[in-house]
Amino acid sequence: MTAKELPATAGPLSQAAFERASRLMPGGVNSPARAFGAVGGTPLFIERAEGPYLFDLDGRRYVDYIGSWGPMILGHAQAPVIEAISKAAAKGTSYGAPTEAESRLAEQIIEAVPSIEKVRLVNSGTEATMSAIRVARGATGRDKVIKFSGNYHGHVDSLLVAAGSAAATLGVPDSPGVTKGAGQDTIVLSYNDVEAIENIFAEMGDQIAALILEPVVGNMGCVAPTPEFLKAIRDQTTRHGAILIFDEVMTGFRVAFGGAQERFGVTPDMTTLGKIVGGGMPLGAYGGKAEIMNQVLPAGKVFQAGTLSGNPVAVAAGSATLDILKNDPPYEQLERMGKRLADGLDQAATKAGIPHTVTAVGSMMTLFFNANPVMCWDDADQCDRDAFGRYFWGMIGKGIYMPCSQFEALFFSRLHDEAIIDETIDAATTVLAGL
Ligand SMILES: *Cc1c(COP(=O)(O)O)cnc(C)c1O
Repeated sequence: MTAKELPATAGPLSQAAFERASRLMPGGVNSPARAFGAVGGTPLFIERAEGPYLFDLDGRRYVDYIGSWGPMILGHAQAPVIEAISKAAAKGTSYGAPTEAESRLAEQIIEAVPSIEKVRLVNSGTEATMSAIRVARGATGRDKVIKFSGNYHGHVDSLLVAAGSAAATLGVPDSPGVTKGAGQDTIVLSYNDVEAIENIFAEMGDQIAALILEPVVGNMGCVAPTPEFLKAIRDQTTRHGAILIFDEVMTGFRVAFGGAQERFGVTPDMTTLGKIVGGGMPLGAYGGKAEIMNQVLPAGKVFQAGTLSGNPVAVAAGSATLDILKNDPPYEQLERMGKRLADGLDQAATKAGIPHTVTAVGSMMTLFFNANPVMCWDDADQCDRDAFGRYFWGMIGKGIYMPCSQFEALFFSRLHDEAIIDETIDAATTVLAGL
């Protein structure tokens, strides 16, 4: 193990930067998950990133297990992606008129993702889920949407109900500013609860426009679906004419090239994408069966638009990323490294006598400070958050940057090789033993 010991706090330059940022921006950040609210202390300010590493303002290097919360599956600042971005930017950064590059990316997405016959590019995962819900309601003429507690679908009003991720971590699952009206057509069920799904469809199946879920949850920590659960949601939505939406913003091109739907062999009616599909630039997408997507303006009547949608620079980054993932697929290696890391973390926690459970699906995983299996939000909620906070800062002290919340899955890239994974396990073994 070579990781040098670092102080288990942010350095002086990050501290100063955070003080300045806090005067200028709410909480000093532009997205709450970055603020270290769940682990305490000052967030590290990042100066640059390269391959599997982040470098902070104080010149410290960290093995990155956030990957920008999902997108950086190839590793940071990879030459083919940077070149594609530079080339596109040199030709102008936005036109507000169609380009061939958009069709190219659309072809790549349609080829990769089994459920997508037609696709619309947007600017974020939030936009993708918001739009997919609108299209599902427009296509079915129904209002009600089913979601699962602890699943996060971006900050869409109607979906900010019992949301996971930063919303759960901060203890405000129902955000102020979301009206009762916005939430009243949202039905929240417990993840992996087959009976609840059968009951709700038996009761009001003809009012349900859509069922949306994370097909592997990343936003309450990593939680996997059971085969029975996946079967129930597909069967019930089909039987009752509701649209099944896989929110693959996190899992798309991550748990398999074609996402969770490829991995599990369950095809939804619509799919939302973000994160990896933009190759580290702001880009999202939603798509599905042609008959559903043809409801979208100007083919159909459901309104959805965007000044920067299909932005040439973002599209270039996304296309270059998907090219590499297709031609030089990292997925077998990600599986192997995922298993190595999951086993290593499990053994480290067992050795330290810490009640825990590890959930992993490929290169997404969580070490839960919880003795019992985590199958839904109520299970995740039982975790020892204080222990997680000490673990987080202990790992920072070893030069390892884990997600700053128990309720966020860690991600790694194709550049996290055996040596890096083993360095991480060694660090965790020491840190957990010292908790
Ligand atoms: C990140 C995420 C979103 C939101 O995407 P943004 O680009 O942050 O708006 C939606 N759904 C899931 C499953 C996500 O992980």
